[in-house]
Amino acid sequence: MTTSTLGYPRIGEQREWKKALEAYWAKQTTEDELHKEMKDIRLNHLKKQQASGIDVIPVGDFTYYDHMLDMAVMFGLIPERYGKISGQVPLDTYFSMARGSQDVPACEMTKWYNTNYHYIVPELEGLTPSLTDNRPLALYKEAKKELGIEGKPVLVGPYSFLKLAKHYETAQFGDWLQQLTPLYSQVLKELADVGVLWVQIDEPSLTGDVSEEELALIQQAYETLRSDVPQLNILLQTYFDAVDAYETIVELPVAGIGLDFVHDGGKNLHAVETKGFPGDKVLAAGVIDGRNIWKAKVIDKLTLLQQLERSVADHSKLWVQPSASLLHTPVTVKNETELDPTLKRALSFADEKLLEVVTLKKLLESKEDGDRTAIQENEQLFKDLEATGWRKEQPDTAPFEEVKRPLSYEERRQKQLEKWDLPILPTTTIGSFPQTKEVRRLRAQLKKGNLSQEAYTEQIEAHIRTWIQHQEDIGLDVLVHGEFERNDMVEFFGERLDGFAFTKHAWVQSYGSRGVKPPIIYGDVAFKSPMTVEETVYAQSLTKLPVKGMLTGPVTILNWSFERDDLPKRQVAFQIAEAIRAEVAALEEAGIEMIQIDEPALREGLPLKRDDWQSYLDWAVHAFRLSSSYVKDTTQVHTHMCYSEFQDIIDAISALDADVISIETSRSQGDILSTFEDNVYDKGIGLGVYDIHSPRVPAKEEMLHVIHRALSVLPADLFWVNPDCGLKTRSEEETIAALKEMVSAAVVAREEVSSKS
Ligand code: GLN
Ligand code: ZN
Repeated sequence: MTTSTLGYPRIGEQREWKKALEAYWAKQTTEDELHKEMKDIRLNHLKKQQASGIDVIPVGDFTYYDHMLDMAVMFGLIPERYGKISGQVPLDTYFSMARGSQDVPACEMTKWYNTNYHYIVPELEGLTPSLTDNRPLALYKEAKKELGIEGKPVLVGPYSFLKLAKHYETAQFGDWLQQLTPLYSQVLKELADVGVLWVQIDEPSLTGDVSEEELALIQQAYETLRSDVPQLNILLQTYFDAVDAYETIVELPVAGIGLDFVHDGGKNLHAVETKGFPGDKVLAAGVIDGRNIWKAKVIDKLTLLQQLERSVADHSKLWVQPSASLLHTPVTVKNETELDPTLKRALSFADEKLLEVVTLKKLLESKEDGDRTAIQENEQLFKDLEATGWRKEQPDTAPFEEVKRPLSYEERRQKQLEKWDLPILPTTTIGSFPQTKEVRRLRAQLKKGNLSQEAYTEQIEAHIRTWIQHQEDIGLDVLVHGEFERNDMVEFFGERLDGFAFTKHAWVQSYGSRGVKPPIIYGDVAFKSPMTVEETVYAQSLTKLPVKGMLTGPVTILNWSFERDDLPKRQVAFQIAEAIRAEVAALEEAGIEMIQIDEPALREGLPLKRDDWQSYLDWAVHAFRLSSSYVKDTTQVHTHMCYSEFQDIIDAISALDADVISIETSRSQGDILSTFEDNVYDKGIGLGVYDIHSPRVPAKEEMLHVIHRALSVLPADLFWVNPDCGLKTRSEEETIAALKEMVSAAVVAREEVSSKS
């Protein structure tokens, strides 16, 4: 049996990778210094993997920014706006594609499958691919020379690369595949020439919906690779879900197949057991969860591996590995000194996962009972977790019953119109106002203990006062308190609810040098005491205009946390929903009767396969409704989502039954308007009339134009005027100036609407 791993976090135990990059970008270090630091970090990561005892170690998964960008650059796919480049791509060109520069904006970035990692989207239009340099080759040689490691170069495979790329006609998919395949052959040939044994070709797109036509093209491409480089062992690696076209995939002309046995809903195991696995291939079995942070239950994993052994006659052809690249986990639990000791024992980040893989191999191979202590220790851990109530062996699988507000939207609307007495086309914002240095310093000082709670509250209230005044001066109709007390929209609630833990160093790369430190949901989530009432009520006391309460929704809190792995996601979502429902009740009790529950992460939780969408959407909608349905008829529930890809989930959005939804529009006007041309949306809706991601203050006319276009597909009496998203990243000046323009635009639009009727 062989142990292997698919990829290692780049960010560094003390975020040294991030720091090295940012120092270079800030021109504090030279390019040579950056290369040297990057090499040190890279070798250090390899050494750690080597020391853990893993047999097959990946090389080339390391990057200066993103592995998809590395692929695009290796294939010379540099859009012309970054300059005409032949041969090796200069580092600064690479970074301007990633981050933009004075002269050019960055390439588009989007989510990597169903993770929170974002990759740079390759653009193909008008470009001819050519090999600029063989990056995996250089990194393979380096690992061999410096550390004696016989590395396994990692590449994103041609099918997934093209599925993730944009800006080309889908009809050209086959042509592009034909153009790219020889370049892959070239890279692989050069690897084979220096004696590389195994190459890992990642094809995660094979776990999505793959058409028959695509399957045929994939077969062709891999046939070509096989005949061009017969001497090289290709491990075709899939992850994040099961492969539906199992029979075709395992027969592809490669030497090994990597399957995810953690996030596959049991389907991969079922396929191996019922359909068999080709005897001449390696089965690389992803059995340790590469995406979550929990220690595995050893007994269960051993059983799984023994089941697989029955289908793989030659046991030397069974590899044990994590289910995905460890890119999606933090580096090590070691430095978490302030966690509850039982919780800490239950955690496993990248370094610990590698040890788990090695332990599994030892246990499987040891014929004697001598090594059983590892199993006993692990069993004890799970007993302890059950004793604390942090692990349940019996998840709740009962069907959930629909909850809904007593009155239909139409009926509530009449009552709400009377109660709120807002002008037509009411104006509002999404919640946060600028988080200035001063605001952030306040929170930091409170955390460090350098500021008393009283002094802190006083200063937060001063910010609220200032901004209530600004909002009144600007002429907005529905106000917000500004979220000055919040560091992050999930962390803020997690810190105030039962069941969440926070780490000190558990950073995971989100994009480029940006990391996130997701909270850990380890126990039952429950409401403790009101979390937002004080600031909201204070803000409301300063004005006669309505102030919206501002909450983060259950689906978003769940999707942006590390979740428990003993309960189905939906059960955790419902627990969070109950907690948010209690907060909603507390706000209502305190007289706050317009309440916004943000769900910006609802869409990103969609499963990879279309067939699985509906069941996700059903429970996600239910969770939102659990938190928002138990209110008075006159209480107006708002929600917000910062994206505009709605077409395919519009029914679920409508089923949320929020009285008002605000969504992003300004960056993708065309798309969103056609959504509403084709679908009737019959509840309150605000389309963002300006892009808050840019420091530019748009003129009234531009926003008026957006309003006009929106009113061509949406009824004026349901329409709200608001920015795309929260304003926390903007400066105070920009914010005030832009909101003034926005209100003027609304005023003009109102006159137009009323003169028409
Ligand atoms: N209320 C939040 C804010 O304004 C919403 C943020 C978000 O949608 N990501 O900051
Ligand atoms: Zn938003």
